[in-house]
Amino acid sequence: MAEARIIDGRALAKSVKDSLAQRVIKLQAEAIPVRLDAVLVGGDQGAHLYAKNQAKACSEVGIEYKLHELPETATHKDVTAIISGLNANSAVTAIMVHMPLPKAVDADAIQTMIAVDKDVEGVNPANIGNIVFGRRSLVPCTALAVMEMIESTGVDIRGKQAVCVGASTIVGKPVAVLLMQAEATVISTNEYTSHQETLTRNADILVTAAGVPNLVTADLVKEGAVVIDVGINRVVGEDGRKRTVGDVDFDGVSSVAGYISPVPGGVGPMTVAMLLRNTVQAAN
Ligand code: NAD
Repeated sequence: MAEARIIDGRALAKSVKDSLAQRVIKLQAEAIPVRLDAVLVGGDQGAHLYAKNQAKACSEVGIEYKLHELPETATHKDVTAIISGLNANSAVTAIMVHMPLPKAVDADAIQTMIAVDKDVEGVNPANIGNIVFGRRSLVPCTALAVMEMIESTGVDIRGKQAVCVGASTIVGKPVAVLLMQAEATVISTNEYTSHQETLTRNADILVTAAGVPNLVTADLVKEGAVVIDVGINRVVGEDGRKRTVGDVDFDGVSSVAGYISPVPGGVGPMTVAMLLRNTVQAAN
């Protein structure tokens, strides 16, 4: 059986970034600022690593990046004060808040506070809601990344059976809605779905965003399917070392699928590229 073609998230992200760099140069020539301000509260290692990568990615395309760090002891009021200031500052064209936030801070309220036209992660309910209406808005970056990766295969989405495994507000649900907008027939599953395997085996397009390693094995995948793996899971390998895997058994599924995205090197780098694209869109 033929091996699936790999959807290379790093290569796709590079080509997005190259074209964004050109757009940023043009905006700067017109004296239009392109600046992303990120808020990070507390010492979460993952968030700090993400912030570091963001800073690097922004500098690669010429976007100004400013990180606002607050201690773990910061109150809800402290964070709202920062967001209010950024909302009001016309030099700031994009805002994002790193998760997780400490318990004392109401994350939903903070996300709702971010000005809709600066909300480059698409976490404000107004932006998420706009997806349902098909209106132009700032779409959650990971969902955008998934769509770009499916489109990169050249497979026509319209009329296809699509299954989205996992239905979180920020990943699974927006992906399902975007696939509906593209006129696929969409099934969304969650941890309580019974006989999930009968659904996935019929999927022409299979997106997994559950956060469960090895959830999707070769016997659950239709031959020739497009498989996009959003999951990021840290597991201990047979050699005792920690490594990052997705939700899909990559080696096994590669022998059945038509196209497959790897972890790492798949949705992750494209999500960062989509954050940059949203940042440039917000500046526009
Ligand atoms: P979440 O925990 O908010 O939601 C998980 C969803 O998966 C829920 O709807 C849950 O019901 C469902 N689920 C859990 N077990 C399941 C099972 N056995 N079968 C079917 N559905 C199941 O998670 P999230 O924030 O959406 O993230 C999901 C995964 O994607 C995580 O591994 C996360 O790290 C990763 N992620 C990756 C990126 C990226 O850029 N690549 C971005 C965001 C999240």
